[in-house]
Amino acid sequence: MAEAVLVTGGAGYIGSHACKALKAAGYLPVTCDDLTTGWADAVKFGPFEQGALENRAWLDAVFARWQPVAVMHFAALSDVGQSVRDPGLYWRRNIAGAANLLDAMSVAGCRHLVFSSTCAVYGEQDGVLLDETSPRRPINAYGASKAAIEDMIGNFSAACGIEAVIFRYFNVAGADPEAEIGEFHRPETHLVPLVLDAISGRRPALTIFGTDYDTPDGTCIRDYVHVADLIEAHISGLDWLRAGRGNAVFNLGSGRGYSVREVIEAAEKVTGETVPVIEGSRRPGDCTRLVSGSRKAEDELGWRPRRLLEEMIADAWRWHQRGAYRR
Ligand code: UDP
Repeated sequence: MAEAVLVTGGAGYIGSHACKALKAAGYLPVTCDDLTTGWADAVKFGPFEQGALENRAWLDAVFARWQPVAVMHFAALSDVGQSVRDPGLYWRRNIAGAANLLDAMSVAGCRHLVFSSTCAVYGEQDGVLLDETSPRRPINAYGASKAAIEDMIGNFSAACGIEAVIFRYFNVAGADPEAEIGEFHRPETHLVPLVLDAISGRRPALTIFGTDYDTPDGTCIRDYVHVADLIEAHISGLDWLRAGRGNAVFNLGSGRGYSVREVIEAAEKVTGETVPVIEGSRRPGDCTRLVSGSRKAEDELGWRPRRLLEEMIADAWRWHQRGAYRR
């Protein structure tokens, strides 16, 4: 019997890709998801335990049933705009869920955690490249809740011996290269799927959120990482923990920033179509520039993103064209 790994949020975009990779690596990925933002039909690679992390009794029963060797924790609300409008929701759900999960892990004697954090913990840093030692100054409740969970993990590590690899993601994009799974949110807020929606006519246009930023073309700059590359890092993170290498924090970014306009141009090149665009106002909570300036994941974990922006868009486009959004 394969060793189980609990994947919270395994019915979501990144979590479902983790399940696929875990299965390929010989593990049994057990999805824990309440389907608030996930999709039952994305659970294809192992068993499904439906429930909310706030439900401690359910969580304890799940740990007892599967006796996982590790947890990958993806389940969280992650819409920056929503977190600005409704911060309490983010503090309640993301924080309470993580606290219950860590409690349940320590009671069950499950010591290894791979945690999905975000570059949003860094906030605005005056255009510098961000590395793991950059100060954390989140400017929205989403980033603040993830920073708080990082600290919470530190407390549990000291108290209960839990060891964690914390990954601070930059902007994740793309889809499974085999198009079995991909990105789908309702409502969709992320740039790449919205650009593809505008191309395919599912939306009338893509609104650029702000053209007056202090960047070469006036639009925000982000560092995009292919979801398949990102997940390879998670498998390496699990290996890292199981080899006894202990707590670590890694940025997962490429070190290359693309503006919103550059993403649009790349999508036009990949698809051969034109993106109808509206120049809109800034979206509250958005930082001007978030780009990783770290080689730590490469130097210590042996991870380097291999797929460039055009490949992310091509894979996302293939998934989009399969009509997977017709849920
Ligand atoms: N963006 C945009 N129009 C949209 C959605 C996003 O201009 O309809 C911009 C957004 O302001 C940010 C970038 O695209 O600069 C990436 O946004 P996304 O929501 O994908 O990820 P985030 O950086 O917020 O995690």
